[in-house]
Amino acid sequence: MRRAEILHLLFETPWEELRQRAAATLAREKGSHVFVRGLIEFSNQCRRNCRYCGLRAPNRKLTRYALDADEILAAAREAVAGGVDTIVLQSGEYAVDAAWLAGVIDAIRCLAVPVTLSVGEQPAAACALWREAGAERFLLKHETADADLYAALHPGHTLAERVAQLRLLRRLGYEIGSGFMLGLPGHRPESLADDILLAQELGVEMCGVGPFIAQADTPLAAQPSGPVDLTLRVMAVLRLALPWANLPATTALATLDPNTGQAEGLRAGGNVLMPSFTPPRYRQEYRIYDDKNRVSLQDVRKAVEAAGRS
Ligand code: SF4
Repeated sequence: MRRAEILHLLFETPWEELRQRAAATLAREKGSHVFVRGLIEFSNQCRRNCRYCGLRAPNRKLTRYALDADEILAAAREAVAGGVDTIVLQSGEYAVDAAWLAGVIDAIRCLAVPVTLSVGEQPAAACALWREAGAERFLLKHETADADLYAALHPGHTLAERVAQLRLLRRLGYEIGSGFMLGLPGHRPESLADDILLAQELGVEMCGVGPFIAQADTPLAAQPSGPVDLTLRVMAVLRLALPWANLPATTALATLDPNTGQAEGLRAGGNVLMPSFTPPRYRQEYRIYDDKNRVSLQDVRKAVEAAGRS
């Protein structure tokens, strides 16, 4: 898809027409199945300083935690017993012990589910080791394709580094997932077309789009949330531009619209939900944004039923 076509779909096509086109593409390419990924947020430690995120290193109001291998495996067993098809191991970006994480990946693989990593930008040798240990997918959102905005939001880092890391992960044999936010302060709606084009160019297997939601202990605490309706439009255009990709209805949608947000995300072309299996005593400390909804398996069932999917 070209930029002009994407912009037309995003901002000029009537919503019902766009939604129906996305639904037809979804039915043709993916059927009615919704994939359910079990999310385990195993540490909130982070060395970076992203201006929108509550896990940023300078935030002293957060109690930092790291699950041990037994806690992660217990959460993974619970998720597998509940029927999830993948375990997603997520953390802030920190100097995780590569050999330790390889052992955790290996142990989860013994539960006969694929492992996805979402641990930020990490050294090539560590990423290679985890791939050898059996991790098959890696999520690393590019956050925004606007290079100036990226640099302003991520002090000391560039969009080019981010894209290079995604390409490295591809070379190492991972399926890669990216994604981006909308409604960030300074965000130009037209740059959403560049986000979609970048995801298309990278050929990502998964792409998540979520509205910005503020966190009280960040420099962007007072900013309003991103719009849910535009998020749904972007999901529908992603479904048309990346028909092969898995698109999650994000937890951010469930946070801004707890009753119907995720079902609407599925109706807009989504085919993935990610319930949390982070042990309850740690959940409050994984505050990337405020009032983060904890999506349960029950919520997943409700959303899937409401969207008429399987
Ligand atoms: S967005 Fe990720 S890398 Fe940035 S501060 Fe939050 S957890 Fe760390």
